[in-house]
Amino acid sequence: MDAGWIPKSRQVGKSGLKVKPNVYIALGISGAPEHIEGMKDSSTIIAINSDEKAPIFDVAHYGMVADLFDVCEGLLDKID
Ligand SMILES: Cc1cc2nc3c(=O)[nH]c(=O)nc-3n(C[C@H](O)[C@H](O)[C@H](O)COP(=O)(O)OP(=O)(O)OC[C@H]3O[C@@H](n4cnc5c(N)ncnc54)[C@H](O)[C@@H]3O)c2cc1C
Repeated sequence: MDAGWIPKSRQVGKSGLKVKPNVYIALGISGAPEHIEGMKDSSTIIAINSDEKAPIFDVAHYGMVADLFDVCEGLLDKID
């Protein structure tokens, strides 16, 4: 968002939206407090991060230590 890739309306967190979906999939999100503030009340939080110590795992209901690009490829196949 800061780099202008996506509009500010897509930002989740302290400076953006507070969201509460049934399923929140955090792909390569470190879990900074400013981000957590905007999504912590989601019903089911699934985190995929290559760093096992990423703070996002502290709030995730399900977590996977993996490269998100590998996981997304399989996930897209399933969705298709
Ligand atoms: C006043 C203030 C307000 C802010 N408001 C917001 C806000 O509203 N929303 C917000 O999000 N942030 C906000 N921030 C910024 C916040 O502090 C963090 O800097 C930001 O959330 C970090 O974003 P990130 O997790 O996407 O990136 P990073 O902290 O850079 O984390 C990237 C993560 O991706 C993982 N990763 C990298 N490559 C892969 C891969 N191939 N596969 C799997 N995992 C990978 C890394 O291990 C890392 O954990 C605010 C900051 C301040 C000071």
